[in-house]
Amino acid sequence: RRRRNRLVPYYNSEGQLQGWVREEKSQNTRPATSLPQPIRHSQLPISTRPTAPLESNVAPAPAKLTTPIPSAAPPSWDGFPDGRIKCHFTPQQIEDTSQLVVYWAADKLPGKRGSPTAATPDKGNISRFNCAGVVECDSKVCLSQIAPGENILRQLQSECTCGSKLFHRSCRFQWSIARYIDGAVFESNHTHTHSRYTHLLV
Ligand SMILES: [Zn+2]
Ligand SMILES: [Zn+2]
Repeated sequence: RRRRNRLVPYYNSEGQLQGWVREEKSQNTRPATSLPQPIRHSQLPISTRPTAPLESNVAPAPAKLTTPIPSAAPPSWDGFPDGRIKCHFTPQQIEDTSQLVVYWAADKLPGKRGSPTAATPDKGNISRFNCAGVVECDSKVCLSQIAPGENILRQLQSECTCGSKLFHRSCRFQWSIARYIDGAVFESNHTHTHSRYTHLLV
C-alpha cells in the first residue's frame, strides 16, 4: 500500500551496516519461489532473527520475509558506547534502551532537523554530540575520573578528593543518532581517551 520503496540495510562480513539500498518493486523481485538469499543474513547474530510471527493486522508480503533483518541493538546497551559503531535500532529497541540513552557528558554539535518520520535515516532527524572528556586527577596513583559538568573551569578550581590538582582531558569520541520512520541509526567513531567516570561531581 505504501508508495515509497523500502530501504534495506546491507552489511559487510563483520555484520556492520554498510549502507542502504532501495528495494525495487519490479517484476524481478516479486516471485517468492526463487528469491536471492539476503546478503549475510546467515551471519547475523541469532538474537536478531525473528523468533515469533510479526504482530500485524496485515499479513506481510512474501518478499518481506527475505528482507535482511536490521542489526539489533548491541547485546548490552549500557549507555556508554565506545569505539566505531554503526547500528540500526528498531522502534522497540529504542524503547528498550530508554531512547538510546547515553551517559557520557557531551557537547551538542550542529545536527539536522529533518523529520523523524522520514523514509530514510539521512532525511531523518539527526542529532550529534561530542564527548566532553573527563576531569582527571593529576596524581599518578589516583584513579578518579570525574564527569565534566556544565562549568568545567569551576570544577578544575576544586581539588580531587585525594588532594591533588584536577585537569580536563578532552575526547574525540563523537556520535550521531538519526531518527526516521523505521527507527534510528546510531553511529560513532573513535575510542574514548578516558575510562568511565568514577565520580559525577567533585
Ligand atoms: Zn585524585
Ligand atoms: Zn570520551
